[in-house]
Amino acid sequence: MTPAIEIRNLRYRYHDGTEALRGVNLRIQPDECVGLLGPNGSGKSTLLLHLNGILPDEGPPEGTVLVFGRPVTPENLPLIRRQVGLLFQDPDDQLFCPTVADDVAFGPQQLGLPEPEIRARVQRALAAVSLEALADRPTHHLSHGEKRRACLAGLLAYEPALLVLDEPTSGLDPRGRREFKSLLRRLPGTKLIATHDLELVVELCPRCILLDEGRVVADGSTVELLNDEPLMLAHGLERPHILLHTHPHPSHVEPRTS
Ligand code: ADP
Repeated sequence: MTPAIEIRNLRYRYHDGTEALRGVNLRIQPDECVGLLGPNGSGKSTLLLHLNGILPDEGPPEGTVLVFGRPVTPENLPLIRRQVGLLFQDPDDQLFCPTVADDVAFGPQQLGLPEPEIRARVQRALAAVSLEALADRPTHHLSHGEKRRACLAGLLAYEPALLVLDEPTSGLDPRGRREFKSLLRRLPGTKLIATHDLELVVELCPRCILLDEGRVVADGSTVELLNDEPLMLAHGLERPHILLHTHPHPSHVEPRTS
């Protein structure tokens, strides 16, 4: 099967010389939901931006990024961007139309769809995120959680096969987080979710990839990775409390005595 994402030996250096990615290799199959973990500055956002070809070209590309088998190259970007829905970390970077409905309609309009189809998609997408009642609200009058849902509706409206989410639950209150997680769980397709929300990862992502200093340092079962306390601590993370109650220790991890 053609992987949804295949990345081979990807390196990326920002113009100021910061080496953000230092040879990343990974492969994600269609319909997988994968968590991307790592401390701040480990390269998660930089990696996600490569899936949509958003980064400025800093010289000849090093490595290969394939989305559904197609290289992310300038000539393929129009097609790639129809397949990849990238949710930015800050919703204010994503919302730019006067009202929620206008913003959600933007993607389908770019696809050149007929007006009735655009209206139908906007309605479906707003219903999926429970924002129908706020369709005509100016986007700058939304709460943070509503903005995130509006951004997600904007992605859903062009029906991407791959959802790439950068810290989707940051800044949400507990109820907002719960609602966003149950929304994500219902969405079809392949998902790659960069997050510090380890509960989200335990609940939604059977597999995790751990990034540090621009390299993949672990890739495997979420429960095994998160239960590996030395691994988590070595990379600026911690073993989530949720695992203490819901999952037994794997045999290679010493039980905590404190
Ligand atoms: P994460 O998402 O894991 O926090 P980032 O991908 O944002 O990591 O950052 C990886 C590295 O690249 C960090 O050292 C960060 O400071 C650096 N970086 C990110 N964006 C820029 C930029 N626009 N210019 C220069 N360095 C950057």
